[in-house]
Amino acid sequence: MARERTFRTEAIVLRRSDFGEADRLLTLFSRDYGKIRAIAKGARKPQSRKTGHVELFMRSRFFLAEGRDLHVITQAELVEAYAALREDLVRTTYASYACELLDRFTTEDDRHVDMYDLLAEVLDWFATIDDVMLAARTYELRLLSMAGFRPQLFECLACREPIQEQDQFFSAELGGLLCPNCQAEDGRAVPITAVAVKVLRYLQTRPWEVVKVLQLKRPLHRELEALLHHYITYLLERDLKAVDFLHRLRREANLFAPPEE
Ligand SMILES: [Zn+2]
Repeated sequence: MARERTFRTEAIVLRRSDFGEADRLLTLFSRDYGKIRAIAKGARKPQSRKTGHVELFMRSRFFLAEGRDLHVITQAELVEAYAALREDLVRTTYASYACELLDRFTTEDDRHVDMYDLLAEVLDWFATIDDVMLAARTYELRLLSMAGFRPQLFECLACREPIQEQDQFFSAELGGLLCPNCQAEDGRAVPITAVAVKVLRYLQTRPWEVVKVLQLKRPLHRELEALLHHYITYLLERDLKAVDFLHRLRREANLFAPPEE
């Protein structure tokens, strides 16, 4: 989309770092232009009001001046602060994860309105729901679909027969299920229980309003998390730049592992 010298867009702050003496460098995920990088001048001065709404996860209406390399934020009006995300370490971690995952699956200046709306929605889920793992798995499945990696959960990727209600295998390389007869098609396919397949399909196809009341036992949550992270890891490891992120993801997974039941 062609841009004027100054432009405005709603955006969520994905990443931020210090820049120069008093500025911040932000990675924004914008509704109209996808991922963009911008400088918030003077954002680290306490009296900065004009560009004060540049904290992580904040959703604001940004006014920007186009630069050759970096844009400059001239104004930011808060739309949604998601305050609850900053008051609880687990919620903060999950919100960071949502932002980083989206960051890894997108490139700059590539518009994805569907992903923007999803991110705005999932930050609200993480701010409000008790079962953050359920929100995380639902988010992962939706983001994967939007990024072109929707896992095939309804038919075997080798024989194309409909998946029966029994334990199956998941091939990260092929991007979905292999039935027990075809598991040898991918020697690295991992087992997945029938109930996990059922839940994944449910999360993949039902609206959040329906999904959010599900009550899953801890071992099932564990299985779903391991399976989706296995798939996401496979996809991201093809891109070496993502390795640091994956190391952090694993560390955080250990840090915030809830107690076993
Ligand atoms: Zn098969």
